[in-house]
Amino acid sequence: MALDTLDLGVLAAIVLAIVIYFTKGSLWGKSDGEDVSVPRGSSRDLVEVLSANNKKALVLFASQTGTAEDYSHKFAKEFQSRFSIPTMCGDLADYDYENLNEIFTSVDGFQLVIFFTATYGEGEPPDNAVEFFDYLENECDDLSNLKFSCFGLGNSTYEFYNAMGKKTVSTLTEKGATLVGELGLGDDGRGTMDEDYMAWKDGLFDILKDQLSLEEHELVYEPQIKIEESVLTIDSPEVSLGEPDAKYINPSQEEAQSLNEGPFDHTHPYLAPITVSRELFNSDSRHCIHAEFDISDSNLKYTTGDHLAIWPSNSNEHVFKFLDILGLSEKKDVVIDIKSLDPTVHPHLISPSTYEAVVRHYLEISGPVSRQFVGSVAQFAPTEQAKAHASKLGKDKELFHEEVTGRYLNIADLLHVLSDGVKWTSIPFAFIIESVAHLQPRYYSISSSSLSDKQSIHVTAVVEQEKYPNVDHIVTGVATNLLFNIQLAQNKVSNVKPVVTYDLAGPRQKFAPFKLPVHVRRSTFKLPSNPATPIICIGPGTGVAPFRGFIRERVAQTANDISVGKTLLFFGCRNSNEDFLYKDEFVDYSKKLGEKFELVTAFSRETAEKVYVQHKMLERAKEISDLLNDGAFFYVCGDAARMARDVQNVLIRIMMSERKVTESIATDMVKNLRVLNRYQEDVW
Ligand code: FAD
Repeated sequence: MALDTLDLGVLAAIVLAIVIYFTKGSLWGKSDGEDVSVPRGSSRDLVEVLSANNKKALVLFASQTGTAEDYSHKFAKEFQSRFSIPTMCGDLADYDYENLNEIFTSVDGFQLVIFFTATYGEGEPPDNAVEFFDYLENECDDLSNLKFSCFGLGNSTYEFYNAMGKKTVSTLTEKGATLVGELGLGDDGRGTMDEDYMAWKDGLFDILKDQLSLEEHELVYEPQIKIEESVLTIDSPEVSLGEPDAKYINPSQEEAQSLNEGPFDHTHPYLAPITVSRELFNSDSRHCIHAEFDISDSNLKYTTGDHLAIWPSNSNEHVFKFLDILGLSEKKDVVIDIKSLDPTVHPHLISPSTYEAVVRHYLEISGPVSRQFVGSVAQFAPTEQAKAHASKLGKDKELFHEEVTGRYLNIADLLHVLSDGVKWTSIPFAFIIESVAHLQPRYYSISSSSLSDKQSIHVTAVVEQEKYPNVDHIVTGVATNLLFNIQLAQNKVSNVKPVVTYDLAGPRQKFAPFKLPVHVRRSTFKLPSNPATPIICIGPGTGVAPFRGFIRERVAQTANDISVGKTLLFFGCRNSNEDFLYKDEFVDYSKKLGEKFELVTAFSRETAEKVYVQHKMLERAKEISDLLNDGAFFYVCGDAARMARDVQNVLIRIMMSERKVTESIATDMVKNLRVLNRYQEDVW
């Protein structure tokens, strides 16, 4: 498109993009080609951006934790490559939707919109999709031109399984849009997200070949970003060494001050000092960390029941193994420029950076590998044998499960096994950045009260380290082992050796001493507005976290002469001497709250027959029923897989026996509590 055909709005967008590019901390690299398109982010007009970039398909994501976003990028890339249809992938929050219906008539040759929709919390949309659903429900009346497909990402152990994927389909079709293929349902609860995605995608591709008469090609890697080694060095002030965002790189004095002022969100965290950390378990093999983040120097705010997002980095062991198998150990400090070859592609990385910084701070390198990754990395295998093996694994679901998933391999482990240690030096680093998921913040239910702990946010995190039978390594979680390392270092514990270690000082020593990037996510898990309302809390294991916050709030209210309702807390763990979280604190809360607080405990490994919180609830059936009669709120926090559903079923049984009603009436009563917001869950 010639420049003189662009209207003023587009021109303004280009100028804006150039300004943003040349300002420090540009988040996307410039395109190598003639830059006449409208980069993503510089216009909210879908038709304008799609037309200017000559895109014929659109993938939009509603993503909370980054998974839906990663799948949508993967899909867009493969769709473009397989069918030679230029495809744009975008964040639902980045566009206006008034002309969603016009895309098909205004953008020449436009084919399809594909939605990747995650469900968050109690059937809620992810933050980035709230406005989109609001628009659909309240403003949009006609989508009769829209042809779309949809993949939902959910968890079948939750009450509202894939609610937003289902809602996307029902709302769009109600407005006249046409669904192409079937709604895909990815299920994290069964651990089959990847296979569900592959099955949906392959099915959709078959339908598209048929319905849209698309021609399919062999999948070849087409880079959308370009990596160039730079003349800059690791000491150059503009190079990102893993700073959480561009604002943290070499700020002026004034800019440094504003880093404490927020707003803080998933694009810009607060670098919070951890002032207190301690071990909560009494065990050699299992650990749980209590950590307190000081927010007194910032205007980061929270309210009791919110979630803290912690931005982790990868362990030394994982980083070095990953760099090693790619043959990048020697070059780990080489500075690279990351440039987008497509103005609508946003690499999410700060450029320039180093190989090590990218691997340590921005890529999810230690989790499970996807079958699709193995299939596509085969083309870069260093030996014919490795190539054949990788291709076979990419095609064979059972074999992949047996050799990869079942052995808890991560990417570096797998590449190592496939090539017998021969380095994979031919994999373009651009392929790595494009194919490996981005390292995402981890969420924690805040275990402090914004009333009693105004200056600090507490979290309670169980350390993920598991030794599985027939697996020769200990499988570790990223964020919790980082917290574990901080606890050991902060308390100068020398007799415990962590399974993995971290660079605690962080980029340019900015994380020293003991700081981590964090932001707060507002939650709907809240105490009743009237403090006198009784509450029943079911929180086994780390599920007790938000209830510690609730109780601290009620202790503070009592100290302020505010009358509080009864708090009946059910807590469960294995053993009263091993993993009874905050055991001593609860004694103290009891003293302060008197009869207004009661703790009911269930220890699963102290008796021949395992005892769980659900059993204890049955023992206290009458009291639970009476409290609910008195207007009590009922809260459940912790394991979504089994506990939350079991607790609901037990509550239905309690209603049946205490209120002498049928199962269906009792079920309706519990449903009604949910509708009234008197039954709240914070489960994961
Ligand atoms: P990750 O790195 O995310 O790993 C996740 C799991 O995968 C681990 O069990 C790990 O061992 C396993 N794994 C690692 N590598 C592989 C591999 N190659 N193959 C297969 N499996 C692998 N947790 C708490 O402890 N306390 C809380 O209060 C809390 N509140 C939460 C609130 C919300 C709203 C949500 C969504 C979650 C909450 N969680 C809480 C869970 C928490 O967010 C993290 O998921 C958890 O701490 C694990 O994070 P991690 O980075 O240590 O593990």
